[in-house]
Formats: sequence, C-alpha cells, structure tokens
Amino acid sequence: MRKFHIHTFGCQMNERDSERIAAWLSRAGHVPAADEARADLIIINTCSIRKKAEDKVYSLLGRLEKDKRSRPDMILAVAGCVAEQEGENLLRRFPGLNLVFGTHQVGRVAALVEKARAGERVSLVGSLPDADRLEGYRPFHRAPGVSTFVTIMEGCDNWCSYCVVPALRGRELCRPPEEIANEIKSLVETGYREFTLIGQNVNSYRCGNGFSFPGLLRLAAGISGVGRLRFATSHPKDLSPDLIRAFAEIPNLARHIHLPAQSGSNRVLAAMNRRYTREDYLEKVERLRTACPGIAITTDIIIGFPGEEESDFRQTLDLLEEVRFDGSFSFVYSPRPGTRAADLAGPVEGGEGRRRLKIFQDRQDEITLELNQALVGRVHEVLIEGINPRPQTRQAASLTGRDSGNKIVHFPGSPDLIRKITPVRITEAAIHSLRGTIENNLVSS
Ligand code: SF4
Repeated sequence: MRKFHIHTFGCQMNERDSERIAAWLSRAGHVPAADEARADLIIINTCSIRKKAEDKVYSLLGRLEKDKRSRPDMILAVAGCVAEQEGENLLRRFPGLNLVFGTHQVGRVAALVEKARAGERVSLVGSLPDADRLEGYRPFHRAPGVSTFVTIMEGCDNWCSYCVVPALRGRELCRPPEEIANEIKSLVETGYREFTLIGQNVNSYRCGNGFSFPGLLRLAAGISGVGRLRFATSHPKDLSPDLIRAFAEIPNLARHIHLPAQSGSNRVLAAMNRRYTREDYLEKVERLRTACPGIAITTDIIIGFPGEEESDFRQTLDLLEEVRFDGSFSFVYSPRPGTRAADLAGPVEGGEGRRRLKIFQDRQDEITLELNQALVGRVHEVLIEGINPRPQTRQAASLTGRDSGNKIVHFPGSPDLIRKITPVRITEAAIHSLRGTIENNLVSS
C-alpha cells in the first residue's frame, strides 16, 4: 500500500491545503504513513511569505534528498507557494526532487504522483479556470477532531507591496455558500464543534448576486451543531459595519478578531499599499468594542519596512498602547522577490530591525499578561479540545481548550468533556495561557 507523509509550513491556508492533498491522495488509495521514515511519498507544502520560511524548506529538501540515496523509490514532491514561485527551477536545483505542483493543482495531486512514479520529473504550476480551482475543494473529509478550518475563498486582489500572495495564489475566488454550508454540515456529523472560516481576506468574500461575508457567517452559525464560529484573516479596509454588527448579533460567533494592522505609521501604511490609515484602524477598533465589549483583538505587525524611521516605529508602539492588542505576530520585514517593496529604498538594517522588534514584543508581552491577569475571577465558556499535553503535576488530569477570545485555558476535568463547551472560572493567568476550574460542574452539550 502506498504511504505518504506531508510536511506543512506556513499559514492556516497551507494547513488546510495539506488536508486537501491528503484527502485527494486517500481517494486514490494512498494512506498516511505513521512517520516520514515509512513513507514512499513525501510532500513538502511550502510557504514563501518570509525568507526564513523559504530557507527552512530548502534545508529540509536538502536533508530529504540525502535520505533518498538510501531510499531510491521514494517520491519527493514540493507543493505550495515556493513551488508556485520557483517551478522548474526547483527540479534543476534539487536533482532528487520528482514533483513540483503549485497552489491551484491540489486536485490533481494523485495523477501527478503517478506520472512521477512512472519516471517523469514533473513541474505543474500556474492558474486554472475557476471551475477547476473550486473542484480542488470537493473532498470535505479530514481526520476527526474538535476544531477545523473551512476554506471559503482563495487568492487575494489587494497587492500589499510586501506580499507574494496575489502573485502566487492568484486572484480572489469565493466558494459558493451552499457548498461551504454542506462541508460544515458533513463535518458536524463527524463530530467537529468549532469552524474557522479561512481565506487570505475573508471579509471581502462575495458570491453570486451580492451574498456577502456577514451573510455567510449568519448561514454557517445557524447550522445545527455549530458550537462556535471563527474567521481569519481580515483586512481592516474591508471591515464593514454589517460585519461589526455580526459580533453583536450572532451568539456563536467567537468574540475575537485578528485584524492585521502591520504598522502604526500612515507613511509606512501608504508605502505598504494597505489603503487605510491609523485613524481608520483605530475607529474600527472602537466600533468593534462598542458592538462587542471585551472582544479580543490580535494583529500582525511588520517591523523595519523600507523607510521606517524611528519616529514611524514609535507610532507603531503608540498604536500598541492605544489598542492594547491581546496578542500579535510581529516580524522583521524580509524582502520577497517580485514584490514592489523589494525595490524600495531604505531597508532597515538587520540589527536595528531586531532591536525594534524586541522592544515591540517585550511591550506586547507585558500588555498580554496584564489583559490576561484582568480575566482572573471571571467565568469563560471554553470549548474543550483535548488533554493538556503538558499538565503540571498539581493538575494531573488537565484538559485544554480555548475561550471565545481564542485564549488557551487549562483546567482539571474528565476526558468525557472533550468537545463540550464548558464554563470555566479563570484562576491564574500567564502570557500564553490561562488556568481555571470548571464552574459548578455546569456543562453544555
Ligand atoms: S491582504 Fe495584503 S498581506 Fe494579505 S494576502 Fe492580500 S496582499 Fe498579502
């Protein structure tokens, strides 16, 4: 029996794409290998959003090429954004590589693997007609679990100046709402409780005669068995009043939004082609907090974008103070080939970028801890996802889950509670997680 193993780098879209690759391979009779050493097909699903992510792919590829010398029948494949970006160059650079397939070719993976097995070195990248792109999402199946991603759209039309996604994933394509609803219904039947609707910019979702993202949220939230709904990622310019209202109106919509700010400086935001200002961003945060008091807000920040002066960086720090994000993903800018920002003058020198990043991250950690400590004593609804993999001895039978604000909560309890939404009183807070106890043994189904 053919056995495959997939290494996944990057974002939630890539995680979901790896599940789709696995589903298409399973349809063709392949089975997942217990580990990489037992696989006769190894696929690396890649990310090229930052240079570091791309370098990790090349390092893994080099190591697997060496392994292949003692396992000549193993098929080695590269998928995802690096595959889309490099295409045949990868075959030239890595002689042991058999197959390269791009982000639109997931639905063809089994046929491509057969070609590679027949001895052909295959590279297939580039765009597909919309109907074929959508067909790639047809198998809904995935391994059982509690919480899962559902792709509602792919591609992006925004062309932020630093980002490779529009070039590599193509223009925005939205899946029909009825197909998304059918996927969610089938996943409810397999036991899933929480659904994160994903896409590069979900709040620009639009399908048919104006069916919008808030409409899709209402449709999905109303499906029987959907315990909690989330979405990622949002572009601040597309955060509409209707979407803000949805937080007040949809009871099972999580009280959390990931809203990438990227910078607090209008000068830098313009150079990034983000098409909102710091003032726009702050106004939307205020509206969100009015509609949904206590909503958790997280963000992405790029430090050291070309031309970022100390004064621009200080404005990003000011934004952090003003919004008090619950958490953030922050990175030093890394130029990506083919983007407009790669040609911009004034890149911030690496050491200076790292200095600014440390200042930002240290302050974010302090704020996150302060916000988490303010939750001690409160009762939060926690969706229990499983057993805490690293229980402390005093909480030996520890469960783990997430509250509506997407914070990780650990607490003692019976594994029978997994998949339930349970009120938990928060008793301790750290930067990355909370601890608590189940409140009055109240558990909802
Ligand atoms: S919105 Fe901007 S950063 Fe996000 S995927 Fe599109 S181009 Fe990239």
